[in-house]
Amino acid sequence: MQREEGAVNGITRERAERIARAHACENCGEYSYKRLVVKPASPANRAEFNEVWHAVKVCGVCGLHQEMGIDDEGDVVYVG
Ligand SMILES: [Zn+2]
Repeated sequence: MQREEGAVNGITRERAERIARAHACENCGEYSYKRLVVKPASPANRAEFNEVWHAVKVCGVCGLHQEMGIDDEGDVVYVG
C-alpha cells in the first residue's frame, strides 16, 4: 500500500475526513454534515477495532449523530 507523506497512522487526518464525509448518513442517505470531527482513536478503540482515526458526524439533514472508526488503510471499521 502507498503511504502518504506526513501520515502518522498510514493515512492523514485530511484523508480520514474525506472518507468520513464520503460515507452517507445511515439514516437518510445524505452526505451533508453540519459537524464532522476527526480525531486520533483512543487506545481502547485502537486495540478493539484496529481503528486509527475516530470520526464524529452530525447529519445536516436529519441531525443523526454518528461515530465511525477508520483503519490505517482508510477502511471504515464500524459505524455507530
Ligand atoms: Zn441523515
